[in-house]
Amino acid sequence: AGLLSQIEPHKICVCVRKRPLNKQECNKKEIDVVSVPGKGTLLVHEPKQKVDLTKYLENQVFHFDYSFDENATNELVYMFTAKPLVQSIFQGCMATCFAYGQTGSGKTHTMGGDFTGKQQNSARGIYALAAQDVFTNLNHRRFANQDLCVYVSFFEIYNGKVYDLLNKKAKLRVLEDDRQQVQVVGLEEVCVFSAEDVIKIIQTGSACRTSGQTSANANSSRSHAILQIVLRCNNRAATLHGKFSLVDLAGNERGTDVSSNDRSTLVETSEINRSLLALKECIRSLGKNSDHIPFRMSTLTKVLRDSFIGEKSRTCMIAMVSPGMASCEYTMNTLRYADRYRDG
Ligand code: ADP
Ligand code: MG
Repeated sequence: AGLLSQIEPHKICVCVRKRPLNKQECNKKEIDVVSVPGKGTLLVHEPKQKVDLTKYLENQVFHFDYSFDENATNELVYMFTAKPLVQSIFQGCMATCFAYGQTGSGKTHTMGGDFTGKQQNSARGIYALAAQDVFTNLNHRRFANQDLCVYVSFFEIYNGKVYDLLNKKAKLRVLEDDRQQVQVVGLEEVCVFSAEDVIKIIQTGSACRTSGQTSANANSSRSHAILQIVLRCNNRAATLHGKFSLVDLAGNERGTDVSSNDRSTLVETSEINRSLLALKECIRSLGKNSDHIPFRMSTLTKVLRDSFIGEKSRTCMIAMVSPGMASCEYTMNTLRYADRYRDG
């Protein structure tokens, strides 16, 4: 663990995590078409058909900074993804960690953990693990006379609108001032004193999240959830020191094959697609050290504007994939999206 904690945070780190086949998929004898040979590599055995209609599997190879197979725990994933980012906010960085993927691929499991489970400790997600490390670091720092306070906010973006998960889903306005500073007006920022405080807040906020209805999955999450852990100096102005935004993105499944004619579902889907495209553009400009960050393209990128500018930005994208053959098309979409950060 000593060695792992020394890993330098890349400016942009892109990883992939494969979840195990679930019970239903096993019962249906679903074929696992994803394998993880290690060292950041991931293979998809994509079902194809020849002109004579014989079927075969074609191997598609993807390379990322890290690849995690179905046996990886949240702790392991955390170690290589968010942990270095937690260290960075103590050095004044603006860090962001995204969970990206199709509904059911494991985004919330990875970020929030499974609070409904009976063994709460074994199901801790990146939110809780990061919170714990923040306080571990803080306690070390106290000795070094660094006087910092920790604040948490938790909100979601649904159809381009911001809702405060810590204040009865109050709808909030996003404003930009003449220096391009973006503010979510009236967002609750709760002062916290322990990791347990943060976990309680996550539980309250998670219970509050919006779910829409899609034909693919009635419980699918159509909103982005953003947990922010903010370090402020313990002075009168509570000056910002560093910020970690942990983002559980909305499901990336495309709306083109949605059988429903429901207008609100179509609006939801196009809004999600727009924000995910904006996110990709912003992270790519960050990678290229471009002066122009197209953060105004969506509410998601607007509220994360701080995270896309300057030398002090750190980003980690975790692409989640389902292993089953039935999800293969979505899996390929997810991997192609994540892959595109690399060529920037
Ligand atoms: P998403 O948030 O992407 O829609 P979830 O995180 O809700 O997906 O995961 C869907 C289901 O799969 C949940 O029941 C979750 O507990 C389970 N799951 C996801 N990832 C894993 C994993 N790595 N190991 C075990 N179960 C998982
Ligand atoms: Mg989810």
